[in-house]
Amino acid sequence: MKTLFYIVLILCASQFYGQKSNDTVALSDLKRHLNILASDAMEGRETGTPGIEKAAVYLETEFKRLGLRPGNGENFRQEYVTPEENLNACNIIAQIEGNTHPNEYVVVSAHYDHLGMYNGIIYNGADDDGSGTTALLAIAESLMRLKKMGKGPERTVVFIAFSGEEKGLWGSSYFSDHPTLPLDKVSCDINIDMIGRIDPDRTTPDRNHYVFIVGQSRLSSETSKILNTLNSKTQRLTLDEKFDHKKDPNRIYYRSDHYNFAKKGVPVVFFYDGMLGGDYHEPTDDIELIDWEIYHKRCNFILDFTMSLANRENLLKRDLKE
Ligand SMILES: [Zn+2]
Repeated sequence: MKTLFYIVLILCASQFYGQKSNDTVALSDLKRHLNILASDAMEGRETGTPGIEKAAVYLETEFKRLGLRPGNGENFRQEYVTPEENLNACNIIAQIEGNTHPNEYVVVSAHYDHLGMYNGIIYNGADDDGSGTTALLAIAESLMRLKKMGKGPERTVVFIAFSGEEKGLWGSSYFSDHPTLPLDKVSCDINIDMIGRIDPDRTTPDRNHYVFIVGQSRLSSETSKILNTLNSKTQRLTLDEKFDHKKDPNRIYYRSDHYNFAKKGVPVVFFYDGMLGGDYHEPTDDIELIDWEIYHKRCNFILDFTMSLANRENLLKRDLKE
């Protein structure tokens, strides 16, 4: 009886802290990575500066520590020269080998660059896109835990942290022209750019459980169905499709790295919190404004979605034209 009591106690404690449950993203991982990536030490992570180099080293070190394989031959880095200013820059690519379809892929991407510093003020970009970069690391950690238990993905999952996004989607543009894997074998690019905040302008009752999804209706008729079925069984978020509308005046579909995959015909889904005003591209985009509860829910949903694409029978059909 006493043993049973202790087992129940341990189970309750692990549930309460949500730290290392095997099939969820750990909140502690999100906090740890974002505290580092959005710190002043990274100097705003502007492409081509020493600040972003610190972030690149951090990403490489973490992917290595977690046991992921380099995604560019022997290297985690895909180096390129920026189209303006001829600066050296790099994307960081890491992957987890699929069990049964190692030569088919699901890409999970986020940009790790931000705006840098102006007049001595650091733009930390905690939400943009510290939140997406952190999500890559935390989701990778969850997948590695699953793999160690024999429940790893059936297709290869490739994590790509792009640089140069804020300058004009440079890193993803270079990658889509020099891919490290065959793009016709990529089921989907799941792009994460800003998922850590609740938009202060959102006043609907779902403000604590929504996420915008963009791009899902453009190239594959299967994507929306998979997202909605999964959501109804898991997080039950409002999957807001407002920015997916072809006449969206903000042109959100064209404004982050997934668009360079879509241009090559790869189905995409972009996850986004909808922050257009407030602290967007302001030095106030700091970690204190992250809403951990909704951020954590969104990460768990993206983890589940990644696994469902990695483990379903087929690659997403490319049956729609934009
Ligand atoms: Zn961004």
